[in-house]
Amino acid sequence: MKKVYIRTFGCQMNEKDSEIVLSLLQPDFVPTEEPESADLILINTCSVREKPQHKLYSEIGRFKELKKKKPELLIGVMGCVAQQEGERIVERYPYVDIVLGTQAFYQIRQAIERRLKEGKPFVWTELKPDFKPPLVLGSKKLRRVKAFVNIMQGCDNFCTYCIVPYVRGREVSRPPEDILREVEYLVKEEGVKEVALLGQNVNSYGLKEKSYGDFADLLERVSQIDGLLRIRFTTSHPKDLTERLMRVIAENPKVCKHIHLPLQAGSNKILKLMNRKYTREEYLAKVERLRELCPEIAITSDIIVGFPGETEKDFLQTLEMLERVRFHEVFSFKYSDRPFAAATNFQGKVPEEVKEERLKRVHEAQAKITAEVYHSYVGKEVEVLVEGRSERDENQLTGRTTTNVIVNFTAPRLDLEGELVKVLIESAGKHSLKGKYLSPSF
Ligand code: SF4
Repeated sequence: MKKVYIRTFGCQMNEKDSEIVLSLLQPDFVPTEEPESADLILINTCSVREKPQHKLYSEIGRFKELKKKKPELLIGVMGCVAQQEGERIVERYPYVDIVLGTQAFYQIRQAIERRLKEGKPFVWTELKPDFKPPLVLGSKKLRRVKAFVNIMQGCDNFCTYCIVPYVRGREVSRPPEDILREVEYLVKEEGVKEVALLGQNVNSYGLKEKSYGDFADLLERVSQIDGLLRIRFTTSHPKDLTERLMRVIAENPKVCKHIHLPLQAGSNKILKLMNRKYTREEYLAKVERLRELCPEIAITSDIIVGFPGETEKDFLQTLEMLERVRFHEVFSFKYSDRPFAAATNFQGKVPEEVKEERLKRVHEAQAKITAEVYHSYVGKEVEVLVEGRSERDENQLTGRTTTNVIVNFTAPRLDLEGELVKVLIESAGKHSLKGKYLSPSF
């Protein structure tokens, strides 16, 4: 049997796409963790920021040596950089055999066949506006606790810093029947207890395909699957967060009390330049309403510093929003020009050292808030879905709260994987909590 090594960069959607590819390659290829022993190496790329794109190029270089030693080795590039660069990848790296775009990766088998038959690199980057992702069941290995499920592809929002609508195409929702079948399969056949529903903007699920129902409907339908304990979802665009969706999050016991709600900037001027379609006031009003309906909800966010035109005054408004909202966690990034994105042509680029300094200030401010938020869990009983043994200490278990905080804890038994348990939180670290097992959770 042949072996496939896959290296994944970027977001959870890319991780899911890699899983789909591994499923499609079964049973002819089995996954390996060692590129040296692989017959097929795939690099699933991300171009949302500059850094992962650069990593791709060093990764391709690394595999050149392997190909020299083993000429029959096939090297493939997929994902957003593949979509963006297409033929240019094989022009620059002639030893790359296959390039598959963000819709074309479903054709991995045909691509391998054509590469072998035609004896030259095969590039496939067509993006169809009416693309329907096929239903792919079966994963690389039997899973126990958590799985990702794509509910849609692409994005229609065109935030001016973002490359996604250009490399992932227009927004298309998957039919709810396919999603339900996939979740049922994961729960019944693979023992999954928690699914994370993925999309660039899950809140706009089904808005174009009226007969599908909206995202709140989908959450309700998925939650009816027996044996499924928890549902997570990401990412949510603030503009599409409806009252009804907030109520489902608050009231449905299977829906986790966590929302990732990217703010990006605290200044209305910058939000407008970013084409985010909400103001800071609207964002705050949604946060307030969410907390009214669901006081325990954890909110996490993304922040971009140094967007073109961002002054110190604008930036201070971002810092002020961190204090006002008090997110559980924030993922912050320096703005960088991306191909196709409108902001690449904007005036008022912020010098690198200023971006660097602002990023540091965001990190410092948020680290303090996260520490305080995490400390507020100490002494409380929380419900944890056990994911297995802790990586740091084999004698402890690890899992997450409904609010998506990692908990490492001691327990009288270590065979609790996949179960919901009550844990008393005894201390808080920078990125996780520590506690002790109390009882099963019913
Ligand atoms: S919502 Fe904006 S940031 Fe998110 S993927 Fe779409 S265009 Fe990019």
